Amino acid sequence: MKRAAAAEERLCLGSHLSVAGGAHRAVEEAIALGLASLQIFTKNASRWVQRAMREDEVAQFRAARARWGEHAVVSHESYLFYLASADGALRKRSRAAFIDELERAEQLGLDAVVTHPGAHMGSGPEKGIDRFAAELRAVFDAVPFVRTRVLIECTAGQGTVLGRSFAELAGILAAVACPARLGVCLDTCHLFAAGYDLRRAAGYEAAMRELEREIGAREVRCWHLNDSRGALGSHLDRHEHIGKGQIGASGFRALLADARFDGIPKILETPKENDMDRVNLRALRRLARPARSASPRR
Ligand SMILES: [Zn+2]
Repeated sequence: MKRAAAAEERLCLGSHLSVAGGAHRAVEEAIALGLASLQIFTKNASRWVQRAMREDEVAQFRAARARWGEHAVVSHESYLFYLASADGALRKRSRAAFIDELERAEQLGLDAVVTHPGAHMGSGPEKGIDRFAAELRAVFDAVPFVRTRVLIECTAGQGTVLGRSFAELAGILAAVACPARLGVCLDTCHLFAAGYDLRRAAGYEAAMRELEREIGAREVRCWHLNDSRGALGSHLDRHEHIGKGQIGASGFRALLADARFDGIPKILETPKENDMDRVNLRALRRLARPARSASPRR
């Protein structure tokens, strides 16, 4: 029993769950699903300005989390990713929204806010990264660091978005130059769509060598586990159920066995209908079990 619990902690599977009815509801669902990590939105994803959180909401969330066992919770920044934009007014609104997000996350005691690095909108990755870094530093100046890191998520590389390679993520981390408050989040679907072939162990190992060279696996503080509807290098950001997409079930085996990511949240962002979280979690747990083929048959 104890060994099973330790294995679950190492695996650290989670999901992005709804906060309808309050953030504590997501924690209650995480408990029901047997999760060891969780991702939420701290606000309505489609609005710039939100009402502040009430103290009783925060208290309810913290109480639910204490019942759960203080597992890692991250939020996903609400796709207002204009921090790298050339449009100054848009950048300013985006900065204010990000400050609000980080304040909420600190208030809830979240471990991290995951964000996409945004798009350079045609002015080139270098200028885009410079703008993003300056804005993120301004966000950091506005919100004192208590607990919540900002994790830059890799992208599928569609259009002019930043973060399509480990080298580009490394460039972003270096430009922000605030390692104590930063990290990265890797999304299997985005990596695959950006051209990293995760279908076989050899492709996974090659990608991880590049990761170690450019960034270091220690900087990976969250994974998003999604299969990919789009082909390798297609730059299509379309999440698919585990094992049902172009990466395929065995593509996840090497990652789940990689001890460098023990205890690092591995969060499903796959479609939720028909109780699919339970199906995807079962698939991942099965793939995480060590192969028994080496033992002789009797
Ligand atoms: Zn993701």
